[in-house]
Amino acid sequence: MNRRKFISKSALSSLGLAIGTSVLANVTRDSKSNKRQSNNVNYPLVIATWNVPNAVAKARDVILAGAPAIDAVEQGCNVEEEDPSNSSVGYGGLPDRDGHVSLDACIMDDKGNYGAVVFLEEIVNAISVARKVMEKTPHVLLAGEGAKQFAEAQGFKRQNLLTEETKNAWKDWLKKSEYKPIINIENHDTIGMLAMDIRGNLSGGCTTSGLAYKMHGRVGDSPIIGSGLYVDNEIGAATATGVGEEVLKTVGAYLVVELMRQGKTPEQACKEAIGRIMKKQPERRDFQVAYIAVNKKGEVGAFSIHPGFSYTIFQQGKLKNIKPAHWFD
Ligand code: ASP
Repeated sequence: MNRRKFISKSALSSLGLAIGTSVLANVTRDSKSNKRQSNNVNYPLVIATWNVPNAVAKARDVILAGAPAIDAVEQGCNVEEEDPSNSSVGYGGLPDRDGHVSLDACIMDDKGNYGAVVFLEEIVNAISVARKVMEKTPHVLLAGEGAKQFAEAQGFKRQNLLTEETKNAWKDWLKKSEYKPIINIENHDTIGMLAMDIRGNLSGGCTTSGLAYKMHGRVGDSPIIGSGLYVDNEIGAATATGVGEEVLKTVGAYLVVELMRQGKTPEQACKEAIGRIMKKQPERRDFQVAYIAVNKKGEVGAFSIHPGFSYTIFQQGKLKNIKPAHWFD
């Protein structure tokens, strides 16, 4: 090792030590469970769109074991991807109008790294493929056939994502072939999840089969950085659910984080981002969008266009489902 390398290496290891010490000062062990916990009342925390207690409980367990937020988000989202009863994520997701299930997902860590897949077919754990894109490639976003080839090369197994139930639902839909997302009802149910670990670091993920009976090839907001998800570890994080076209047009999740940067609370920021959508089409009432957000202090908030949206949260030792305020009554 030459001198320059040696100096930078030793500088880095003392920096690592310093960071490690300051992190540990905020982390102690619970005397009963012997689990590591943060001394801040607001975190660790996990928050996710819709009523997804199993996913949030999984992420909670990962985070309480001391793992980084990115692991909690990935493993929490995997729960919904693998659950055939969730008809808008992963296995058992409703197909497009031609009967194909295609998945969109992304993940973002506390260092600002991002990975995503769009129009991925036949692979259940889209968010885990997105993480591999982030960690194993020089790119941030892979699409379609290339994303599937990459997933297989990484050891993911191909499988049919259409279940008997979703195939029958699609056949039923074909009788009228009317494309009409129903507010809150299960043309969408994307899981967007944000987590803050015991060190106070943020990560987020978003995974979906998109709007049911969409056009073949359609991609929504969920895998697109700044629209369906954004994480800035200095400020906070936000994620979206609902009609992705509206979120994309307003770069929703990035907007929410930037509004928090300007001093708004998470709820105020989510409300203003919904307002940006509604001001352009004040009379339009036939679609739902919702945002959830967390700031660096571990304060959370959410806002939706219509009632019917809820989010699931683990914070201060409790797991709850909460209905936030909305634009229309
Ligand atoms: N935002 C998703 C999309 O447009 C749908 C959803 O939230 O369920 O693909």
